[in-house]
Amino acid sequence: MNYKRLTNFYDVLPILPDKPEDSWKQSVKWRAVEETFRETCRRFGYREIRTPMLEETALFTRSVGEATDIVSKEMYSFLDKGEHAVTLKPEGTAPVVRACIENGLFATNPVLKLYYQSQHFRYEHGQKGRYRQHQQLGAEVFGSADPAIDAEVILLAMEFYRQVGITEQTLKVNSLGISESRAIYREKLKEFVRPFLGKMSKEAQNRFEINPLRLLDTKDENEIELLADAPKLLDSVDAESRAHFDTLLSYLDTAGVPYVIDHRLVRGFDYYTRTTFEIVSDNLGAQNALGGGGRYDQLVEQCGGLPLPGIGFGLGTERLLLVLDALGIMPELADERPTAFVVTLGNAAVTRPAAVKILQELRQAGIASDMDYRPGSKFGAQAKRADDLGARYLVILGEDEIAKGTAGLRNQATKEQKEIALTELTQTLLSL
Ligand code: AMP
Repeated sequence: MNYKRLTNFYDVLPILPDKPEDSWKQSVKWRAVEETFRETCRRFGYREIRTPMLEETALFTRSVGEATDIVSKEMYSFLDKGEHAVTLKPEGTAPVVRACIENGLFATNPVLKLYYQSQHFRYEHGQKGRYRQHQQLGAEVFGSADPAIDAEVILLAMEFYRQVGITEQTLKVNSLGISESRAIYREKLKEFVRPFLGKMSKEAQNRFEINPLRLLDTKDENEIELLADAPKLLDSVDAESRAHFDTLLSYLDTAGVPYVIDHRLVRGFDYYTRTTFEIVSDNLGAQNALGGGGRYDQLVEQCGGLPLPGIGFGLGTERLLLVLDALGIMPELADERPTAFVVTLGNAAVTRPAAVKILQELRQAGIASDMDYRPGSKFGAQAKRADDLGARYLVILGEDEIAKGTAGLRNQATKEQKEIALTELTQTLLSL
C-alpha cells in the first residue's frame, strides 16, 4: 500500500528538499521564523496562548460569519463520536476569545496582550501558496480601543518581518467603521454595483446578495475596473471611527511607518470593525499579502463575554517562507550538526558499550553528539556518516584505547588527531 499526502497538504522536512521551489519546507527555516516571532512578541510584551485544534462548530459560524467563504465553503466540520458538531479551527482569533472568556483572563488583565502559533484548516482549492493546513503566527490584544494599540499591533507585525529580513514592506490600512455605518455603506455599494451586476462573475453576483462588502475583495481585473469609482468605505464611517482612524494614521506617522490607504481592504471575516490592515512584501514584482488583521470590538460580546474591544493579526508562515526563498533571504538558521560523532573500531562487544556510555556523558553535558547505529558498520562507513551529518569532531574508540581509558579526538576541519583521556573528553569538547 502506497500512502500519499492529502491534496493541498505538505510535509516539513529535516533536510533541504530536492526541488528548489520546495526549499521552504525545511524544518530549520520554520524554527528560525517561529523563534524570531516569539522573541519579537516577548519584546513587545505579548504572552503565549495555545488553544485546541477542535472547537464547537458554532463558535466559528457565529463569529467568522455564515456568509464568509471560510464558513460557507472551507471548514473541516464533522460530527464526532458523541454526535457533537465540531470544526478544525480555520482561524485563530475566535478560539482565543473563547479561551479567554472561559478561563476568566479578561477579569484580571485590563489589557491582555497575547500571541500564538497555530495550525489552521481550510478546504482550499489549490491557489498558489494556499494549503488546506496552514500555520499562522498571530497576536491579539483585548481591552483597549485606543488607536495607540492598533499602531502597536501593526508595528509588532512589521518589526517581526524586518527581523526575519524583509526590508521592503507596504502597509495597507482601511477602516470598516462600525456595524451601523457598514450597513449604510452596504446599501450605497449595492446601489452603485446594481447597474452593471450582469457584467460581473457568478461569484460576485453571489456576494452581492449575501455579503456585498466582499465584492471589494475581488482579484478579477475587470471587476476591479468596474469598482474603480465605487463609493469609499471611509466616506461612510461614523465620526468616531473616522477620528480613531486619523489618530492611528498620526501614530504611524510618528513611528515613521509609511502606509497606503486601501479602500478595498475588507478582509475575509465578518467580525472586523474599524481598523483593517495588511502587510505586503514588495521586494518581489508581484505583490504578496504576507498577513493582516484588524479590530474586532464586538467579537468578545458575540462569543458570550462582556463587551470588550480587541485587535489582532494573523501572519501566514508558508507565505513568509516562500517570499524569503524567492528573495534569497536566509533567516539565521540553528546549527543542527553534531559537535561530536563517536566512531568505533574493533570488537563491538567492547566498543559499543563504551560508545553508549560516552554519548550519554556528552549529551548530558549539553554537547550535540551522535554515532552510527548500523550494526557492523565499518570504520570508513561510520566516518562517512559523520561527514554527511557535518560533525565537527570524531571521537574514535578502539579496543586498545578503551583498555587505556583514552579515545582519539579528530578535528574534522583540520584532520588533526590527538589522544585524550576519556575523563577529560567532555571538558575538552566543551572548551573547543
Ligand atoms: P486570514 O486568516 O485569512 O486573514 O489570513 C492571514 C494570512 O494567513 C494570509 O495573509 C496568508 O498569509 C495566510 N493564509 C491564509 N489562508 C491560507 C492558506 N490556505 N494557506 C496558506 N496561507 C494562508
